[in-house]
Amino acid sequence: MAEKVVIIGSGPAGWTAAIYAARANLEPLVFEGAITQENSAKGTLPLGQLNLTTEVENFPTWPYVDASVLQQFSKSALPEERYNNLVGFYEGKNAHKGKRAAYGPEQMEYMRQQAVNFGTRIITDDIVKVDFSKHPFALHSLGGKTVDALAVIIATGARANYLGLPSEERFKNNGVSACAVCDGALPRFRNKPIVVVGGGDSAVEEATYLTKFASVVYLVHRRDQLRASKIMQQRAFANAKIEIKWNRVLDEVLGNDDEGVTGVRLRSTTDEATEELSCAGVFLAIGHTPNTDFLQGQIECDDKGYIIRKKPHRTHTSVEGVFAAGDVADNYYRQAVTAAGSGCMAALDAERWLAEKGFE
Ligand code: NAP
Repeated sequence: MAEKVVIIGSGPAGWTAAIYAARANLEPLVFEGAITQENSAKGTLPLGQLNLTTEVENFPTWPYVDASVLQQFSKSALPEERYNNLVGFYEGKNAHKGKRAAYGPEQMEYMRQQAVNFGTRIITDDIVKVDFSKHPFALHSLGGKTVDALAVIIATGARANYLGLPSEERFKNNGVSACAVCDGALPRFRNKPIVVVGGGDSAVEEATYLTKFASVVYLVHRRDQLRASKIMQQRAFANAKIEIKWNRVLDEVLGNDDEGVTGVRLRSTTDEATEELSCAGVFLAIGHTPNTDFLQGQIECDDKGYIIRKKPHRTHTSVEGVFAAGDVADNYYRQAVTAAGSGCMAALDAERWLAEKGFE
């Protein structure tokens, strides 16, 4: 029998859609993504991009609170096997002391649990192929499962971009990364210079975070003005460990097979000058690509691959019965809270569409 609603993706949009769909008795099935090395390298593991970040200071209802209170909250809200994913935040040498906002991984575990509490079923697998030419729609997973669905909500988000330099590829996982939170605490970066490329909120956030470990963080930006929000800019300017390299791009990552990254060559964007810097790591923070490859052109997308929503202020896509929520369809706001909001909208749109078509 066909599923009423299948949700693909497990970031804030996916879980919010699941909470609403479950509470509307649609018995949602979530494909939360597969845990594979390839997904780890691409940054597309379950729980989305928020799971790769530290404190989330702008998600409403999470003011600063003592870390021990968050530990109690996690213990009370989550079953032991999920609590164990967070335990490093509360115990051991990386445990936070004092007040802070909830970390991204904490928020994601809470959202997932909230969806589970209302009966959401979860499969830890990727959808790798879809057939939207027939109804019920057919969804094929990496693990070889085929599921039929009356309605589908796509909430697969986006992933971090790389520049595409061969030297960048060569040193991935050996000094090159797009996730400071995942890799910043590695011993290889301790008290060494680190380079961050980009000028947006992500670049400033990563640079600020990396100052915990690095001797100095060079923030390399191609223009003479940051794109980041004012508050983030102020943080970067006020941090004595961040040195901004204005009007520069990354020309080459330097290193060798034994040590990995040992430096970078930067190129000026205003003249022909180049300069070399010693560093132990390079973190890319230059924007994102939507996770829409698996759709293989069956849904209308824009030239960057973001799903186009066909009705103003609604989540309908070019295929009737398929809805899109979160960053996979949002090249503009890209916030956890807007993704969550659009997840709610997609579930309500799907519920109303199913009722209209008499599929209840
Ligand atoms: P973004 O705002 O698109 O910024 C990307 C940055 O990378 C820009 O500064 C851009 O330079 C630079 N860039 C892009 N391609 C490049 C290339 N090929 N070579 C060199 N530099 C390149 O992306 P983001 O920082 O990931 O932020 C995405 C969204 O998430 C934003 O809406 C942001 O507000 C949000 N966000 C919020 C927070 C927070 O509030 N705490 C944290 C992270 C992200 P130009 O400026 O010259 O275009």
